[in-house]
Amino acid sequence: GNPILEVRDLQKHFHLGGGKTLKAVDKLNISIARGETFGLVGESGCGKSTAGRTIIRLYEATGGEVLFNGENVHKLRGNKLQEFRRHMQMVFQDPYASLNPRMTVGNIIAEGLDIHGLADGKQRKQRVSELLNAVGLNEEHASRFPHEFSGGQRQRIGIARALAIEPQFIIADEPISALDVSVQAQVVNLFKKLQKERGLTYLFIAHDLAMVKHISDRIGVMYLGKLVEVTTSEELYANPLHPYTQSLLSAIPIPDPEVERTRERIILEGEIPSPLNPPSGCPFRTRCPKAMPECAASMPEFKEVQPGHFTACHLY
Ligand code: SF4
Ligand code: MG
Repeated sequence: GNPILEVRDLQKHFHLGGGKTLKAVDKLNISIARGETFGLVGESGCGKSTAGRTIIRLYEATGGEVLFNGENVHKLRGNKLQEFRRHMQMVFQDPYASLNPRMTVGNIIAEGLDIHGLADGKQRKQRVSELLNAVGLNEEHASRFPHEFSGGQRQRIGIARALAIEPQFIIADEPISALDVSVQAQVVNLFKKLQKERGLTYLFIAHDLAMVKHISDRIGVMYLGKLVEVTTSEELYANPLHPYTQSLLSAIPIPDPEVERTRERIILEGEIPSPLNPPSGCPFRTRCPKAMPECAASMPEFKEVQPGHFTACHLY
């Protein structure tokens, strides 16, 4: 079928003083099928959150387009924009900062219902109870305040809030990064359960590959505002092509001590260059263990090098 989301050459440049331009997101192309989970991964500052915020139109794009159910999101106005806002919701990274401390949990969850005039009175109350149950909390929690909850519980409240208006698509921006390791898997499992029950589509943003492995159907790896590799989750783990992806994977500890002892770690030299002053040619070349002279001369094209497996690297 048609993809639910198509991102074409999306660009978000910030024009700073002194003629400087921050190319936070540069020519991003992503297509997501209905019911799919697409993981978007990269180190902090790579532009993944900006990409998410531009897709949901918290930021205006400076180039390219975002098609949601075939409609260009950045051209929507009035009622059409309102309708789009109902269908795409966001779950934020920091469950401590993203919930208003002065609102009860019930009012936080019902905010979308109130804004869109979708339920009131008894119906509203019932809807809040249902949502609390759906995320593993209960109706007694509705009258309490965010500070009474743990990080994991707060993120469940953030998820219930996102679900309230029955969106088709959720952008989860590092939803588990701020949580204790012990609760991360529970929250990932909750996302999976809700997807199954509600036919949701996810763009799941994370800073390391270990976190997205179990939830993503396909994964895109970003570096300095650009996608460097996209393929299915299994393929990415079994056959990473881009040297950056290879280094990210080699940083994930393997539970088997025998394998862990004998395998090679790829340690990247140096820091990520400033996105204000990216290297010429391949943006990864200043840290790439496989860099060749041509990597400085020209930017590798992002292309399909094996069926369904895309990368931007002169090695292929
Ligand atoms: Fe490394 Fe060159 Fe490939 Fe860039 S194009 S990832 S520098 S080998
Ligand atoms: Mg971020």
